[in-house]
Amino acid sequence: MSNYIVLVKQVPDVTQITDNAFDPESGTLIRTRLASVINELDAQALAFTNYMRKVGGDPQSKIIALTMGPPMAEEVLRYSLSRAADTVVLLTDKALGGADTVATANPLAFAIKKIVKDILNCGNDYYIVTGMQSVDGDTAQVPPQIAEELALPCIAYVTGTEFKNNRFGFTRIISGGSQTVAAKKLPAVITVAKYEYPLFATFARTRWANKTEFIQWTSDDIKAPIIGVKGSKTSVIRVFPPGKSARKCRQVSDVKTLAKLIVDSYSSENANVGKADSSQTPRYVLPERRADRFDRSFEGTQKEQQDYEILVEKLKELGITDISRIDDADRQNILAAAGEHFHKKALDDMLNGLKLTEPSFRGEVWVVAEHSDGTIHPATFELIGKARELADSLQTRAGVAIAGYQIEPMAKELIAAGADNIYITEDKLLSVFDPTAYRKAIADCISTHWPQIVLYAATPQGRMLAPMVSYRLGCGLTADCTGLDIRDNSRNGYIGILLQTRPALGGNVMATIRTKNSKSQMATARPGVMKRLPTDNSRKGKVINHKIRLTDDDISLQILKTELGTGDVNFAADVIVSGGKGMQNRDNYERLVGAFCDSLSKKLDTQVERGASRAAVEQGFVEHVHQVGQTGTSIGPKLYFALGISGAIQHMIGVANTETIIAINSDPNAPIFKQCDYYIVGTVEDIVPNLVQELETE
Ligand SMILES: Cc1cc2nc3c(=O)[nH]c(=O)nc-3n(C[C@H](O)[C@H](O)[C@H](O)COP(=O)(O)OP(=O)(O)OC[C@H]3O[C@@H](n4cnc5c(N)ncnc54)[C@H](O)[C@@H]3O)c2cc1C
Repeated sequence: MSNYIVLVKQVPDVTQITDNAFDPESGTLIRTRLASVINELDAQALAFTNYMRKVGGDPQSKIIALTMGPPMAEEVLRYSLSRAADTVVLLTDKALGGADTVATANPLAFAIKKIVKDILNCGNDYYIVTGMQSVDGDTAQVPPQIAEELALPCIAYVTGTEFKNNRFGFTRIISGGSQTVAAKKLPAVITVAKYEYPLFATFARTRWANKTEFIQWTSDDIKAPIIGVKGSKTSVIRVFPPGKSARKCRQVSDVKTLAKLIVDSYSSENANVGKADSSQTPRYVLPERRADRFDRSFEGTQKEQQDYEILVEKLKELGITDISRIDDADRQNILAAAGEHFHKKALDDMLNGLKLTEPSFRGEVWVVAEHSDGTIHPATFELIGKARELADSLQTRAGVAIAGYQIEPMAKELIAAGADNIYITEDKLLSVFDPTAYRKAIADCISTHWPQIVLYAATPQGRMLAPMVSYRLGCGLTADCTGLDIRDNSRNGYIGILLQTRPALGGNVMATIRTKNSKSQMATARPGVMKRLPTDNSRKGKVINHKIRLTDDDISLQILKTELGTGDVNFAADVIVSGGKGMQNRDNYERLVGAFCDSLSKKLDTQVERGASRAAVEQGFVEHVHQVGQTGTSIGPKLYFALGISGAIQHMIGVANTETIIAINSDPNAPIFKQCDYYIVGTVEDIVPNLVQELETE
């Protein structure tokens, strides 16, 4: 009999965010300005668990909901009780606040241990189920880190399950398709990416939920060693609004205008590529290589930089050249000269910072390579481009850690892409990606050489592997970065550290984060954001073999079925027309996308290829090989058409390098309208035939 522990989280309702929800000074969210709701994916995970209990054939099995949060988080427990949970546990304590993912996963794992011992008393036959990620954090790191703490298998990005031969098989999203797997042993952690069958509360159950006592624990009850701000391995340096989209976001009201814009956009030499360009920020120079030893123009925040500029100006005015000989009178003079700009403590910190010249971390800059069937994932090459830049700034080497079987031939390609050293861990047991075996191989290699920075692609595989490896090695990890820069944070005693910038709160803010209390700084980076370097086959590099002992016990998952797209698709075409779930059915997709592709091809005299969103592929409108996005193909055509596509981040990542994006959607508030160049509000059934006619007659 399986039991279930469901992790649920209360989050701010980010769909209701307005500008006044943020503190104008700090840029942080004022929680009281927004309603709190259950994290949508956790609600789906609860419904998914209820389904598991139903098909698992044992109505006696228990569902325990666990949440960690402030006392008001009891609302999500009432929600859980009123839908499916039998017992609920609230872990609440001020000491647990301000935690990053490591300091969240650790107490949750300890609370799970206590639930199993004190409440379920069920041996090993249980599942821990949770949403893939929360909308406020968006990291997807906590579940794999819980699995790592508890030494359990983790099956992430699950979209369905089947109970056959007395065990559960889980269908999960992977790059290029989907896969059905089972945990080789229980317990196991499952993260739900999508389950669209909501649970509704009955009146009777709601009454019962409101009367039921819930269990409340503090940090003393669970005795977790890594909690709160103190236990965290990352800290936020600054929060700021996201830059304005580089896209035009212009609404078009009629198909005639749209047809003209299509022709004009195709023929123009427009290089409107909406991707973030990190090369805009000046390349970092180590303090010892700066012409002026007081040059602090590489500080983490603008304010810090400005403070240093004022300080250095005052030092020069006062004729002070030797920091170590500054006395109290000098300090008073500087403070008087600096006026209101900074106070004594800030001055002391800055003066101490000026004495520092040695980088805070040592070692190479690494990328963990992702590959399958002998092909390296394109995001790996992009990261090598970034690692090269960071390594050059830090005057060190760029390395690649790669695990697998018969992978040595790939080394040449990795070196040609910009790497100096390739660290290879080969084992037959690494033939296909298994999170537990891979994290052992990669963590072992990292802890042998200790690079100062480790980058992973924010693909389903990377977002699974990185949290496990970083947790295992006691290092901080920042998810889904869109900016990676070396900077100083001298006032806090850091030189040459990695500043990791990422969107947070559903993309409503950007946060810059640094690693602390770690031997290595780790980050996953969004595919399609960093730039691949031109291939240079003349580059020379070194291959270093890393040995590790793996046994069958290191393999945590049994792969039951893998479905990958097959067939030929020319995504190098100049024009791509994608249909989404809004196409409604396969016939519509065939008819409308087909006719639109034909007329565009004739009008523009070019090849036009068909694409699709993941949802359209899952609905069976078109084969998987046509999928565009994070787990499909990343494309960069001149013209991209999104027909009936909402604009989910996983889709938009794949079209970031497109010159012009045109969307047709019936929802006037479709998120894609904020990420495209031209859009028209209307159904594809109405707009597309008219547009085809317009293109043919114009
Ligand atoms: C790990 C992971 C990886 C993923 N990878 C990818 C990926 O690579 N690619 C990808 O695309 N997704 C991916 N997804 C899924 C992604 O999150 C979204 O669920 C998906 O992109 C939604 O597809 P959609 O826009 O077609 O469907 P929906 O989000 O359902 O949107 C349908 C849109 O159609 C509109 N619409 C409805 N009817 C009409 C009509 N008659 N005419 C016009 N418009 C209409 C609606 O207003 C809506 O905006 C991934 C998810 C996860 C968790």
